[in-house]
Amino acid sequence: MNIVKSFMKAPLHTKIFVGLILGIPAGLILGPRAETIKPVGDIFIRLIWMIVVPLVFSSIFVGTASLGDLRKLGRIGAKTIVYYLVTTAVAITIGLAIANVAKPGAGLNPEVKAQLLQSYQGEAMKDLSLAKQAPRVIDVLTGIVPKNPIGSLAAGDMLQIIFFAIMLGVAVTMVPGGKGKILIDFFEALSDAMTLMVHIVMKIAPIGVFVLIAAVVGQFGAKILLNLLKYALVVLAGLAIHMGAIYSLAVWAFARMSPLFFFKGMRPAQLIAFSTSSSNATLPVNIQCAEENLGVPKDIASFVLPLGATINMDGTALYQGVAAVFIAQVYGIALTIPDQLTIVLMATLSSIATAGVPSVGIITLTMVLTSVGIPLEGIALILGVDRILDMCRTIVNVTGDASAAVIVAATEGTLRRPEKSA
Ligand code: ASP
Repeated sequence: MNIVKSFMKAPLHTKIFVGLILGIPAGLILGPRAETIKPVGDIFIRLIWMIVVPLVFSSIFVGTASLGDLRKLGRIGAKTIVYYLVTTAVAITIGLAIANVAKPGAGLNPEVKAQLLQSYQGEAMKDLSLAKQAPRVIDVLTGIVPKNPIGSLAAGDMLQIIFFAIMLGVAVTMVPGGKGKILIDFFEALSDAMTLMVHIVMKIAPIGVFVLIAAVVGQFGAKILLNLLKYALVVLAGLAIHMGAIYSLAVWAFARMSPLFFFKGMRPAQLIAFSTSSSNATLPVNIQCAEENLGVPKDIASFVLPLGATINMDGTALYQGVAAVFIAQVYGIALTIPDQLTIVLMATLSSIATAGVPSVGIITLTMVLTSVGIPLEGIALILGVDRILDMCRTIVNVTGDASAAVIVAATEGTLRRPEKSA
């Protein structure tokens, strides 16, 4: 009874963590039968998804309108995009460096290779046909401008929604006679209501997370992990280095924020990222963490974070670097320095084209592999462990977004210094 009572009183991130830990044995016990409880997890994810489009639109619109002048908007936009591009390039470089040193693909048993290729060929083919439909970089760029913004909202096309919200936010401040205020007030109320809805939905997060983890563990088991252990460990080490070193250094150097304080404030968002494998689904919680725990003002959080959830994927880019080297090593292809530079460039671009939803990283990986002539069937080798790595790289993706929000706010002189720790 006491355990239940203290659980109910525990902070949210502790409850989510307990849900996550209990999900592992539950998945092992239930095995494939864990599928039957998965709808509960699906409801949880859908509840968050339900909030994403109205929240992104209203908060970016209000954020842009309240930034006031175009110069400020340009400055914040430029800082954000430069930070996103630089950290993504650093992430891939870390991935490439440790994959070159640790050589995870060099010792893969040929029997295991044949087995993996055979068992995952079907799924790989599915991904490849999806990849064929994946847009080219230039199409992604032109596609940012919506033809019909209502259509973009209905389809949940994030880049188009962001573009239209920014344009409308700029235009509304120029409407003469202060007539734009009514629109700003309206969307401000919507954005506040959406934020409240996040608080309500998060109440069932521990159950949602428990079920999602049980379903993943039940589906994949532990065996596949053993065969690809070295590859998975190299990806995880790269992610840990990028998060532990680069973000710590960045928040400390640019915002004088203690890395411990930063990571503590980010815990709820990281747990949700891990269990949903989706930056977009984590966005509402990430905005909440940035504002309430890290002291980022609303106008900056609502501009920097939705943009990051859509275009900034450091974890995904790092994983693509390791995956490319791994597959090349298994096939005995030597990657030259220019090849590796091409990978840095392509993985940076492809992370912009990667939507913040589960498993998209493996589809855009095909852009990276094609650019240096690595056989695309190679993705069959890594599919078995992709879900678990997706969960981990999504943590890095959302943490990178929040570090940008902290740094942009600090350099604008608007980061609130909370009195008590998060
Ligand atoms: N699941 C990742 C995200 O939403 C994207 C990916 O790497 O597949 O951030």
